[in-house]
Amino acid sequence: MSNKHKSGFVNIIGKPNVGKSTLMNALVGEKLSIITSKAQTTRHRIMGILNGEDFQIVYSDTPGILDPKYKLHDSMMEFVNSAFTDADVILFVVDITEQTTVDEKHLKKVIDSKVPVLLLINKVDLSSQEKLEEQVDYWKNKIKNAEVIPVSAKGKFNVKYIFDRILDLIPENPPYFPKDQLTDKSERFFVAETIREKILLYYQKEIPYSSQVVIDTFVDEKNIVKIRAEIIVERESQKAIIIGHQGKALKKTGTEARKAIERFVNKKVFLELFVKVDKDWRNNEKRLRTYGY
Ligand code: GDP
Ligand code: MG
Repeated sequence: MSNKHKSGFVNIIGKPNVGKSTLMNALVGEKLSIITSKAQTTRHRIMGILNGEDFQIVYSDTPGILDPKYKLHDSMMEFVNSAFTDADVILFVVDITEQTTVDEKHLKKVIDSKVPVLLLINKVDLSSQEKLEEQVDYWKNKIKNAEVIPVSAKGKFNVKYIFDRILDLIPENPPYFPKDQLTDKSERFFVAETIREKILLYYQKEIPYSSQVVIDTFVDEKNIVKIRAEIIVERESQKAIIIGHQGKALKKTGTEARKAIERFVNKKVFLELFVKVDKDWRNNEKRLRTYGY
């Protein structure tokens, strides 16, 4: 390894649904963060590490900035705030399809940032040149210290360019993590997230927001991984919805989750899902801690 090795923390921050997780996955070239069209899909700070011969970029995907309504949200916003404090570069993502408004407190953190900010106008594939020019002007004026870059995380437009800019901006440092490490989260975490992704996809209204997945057992055998997981909801009525008529909804969730987990662990998977009620877990600090928030 040459002594010119560069490493840095690159933290992806923004409002819900602007495409932060899609962007991180595009930048690391792996599906680490789950992506859905629903807000609050990402609840944790998830690191995605990109390693090269002479660099290591530690990306962090974070929950979308929101007004906390539950204790769960407080903990989600702590993940966001931590991402402001340890960044070497901030990727602040906005959505071209709707005028992104950011509360004063968070806007000030971006404006006062001591580290470089790349202001990424995402989803340009859905917009026109005229609209783009208007948005570039708007954000250049609003956040004067930022470098404004149009991107399409989904269409991979300018993703390579962002990578090049980041490589210019991160400092000379030895690697922070072993060079074969891809993330800071465990296999169990990604299994739980995969199940939660299916819940986000197949259930409506408050169900996805009231659900939490806990991996009870994870036994990695020679030819099969045996997993027992609990879906935690807040009320009996939600439990009934998760299970569905004759258990059909839960069965579909389980089948689709199993297939996705099999792709991820590259093995056959035996997945057992159970549903449990934990009243108002989203407002119970102790429970949040045991669930990893
Ligand atoms: P997050 O909440 O900021 O992490 O946003 P996600 O990455 O979960 O994406 C939210 C939604 O926007 C999903 O439906 C994505 O497929 C979609 N999306 C993200 N980036 C793009 C993009 O560049 N173009 C388009 N058309 N859709 C995108
Ligand atoms: Mg996300």
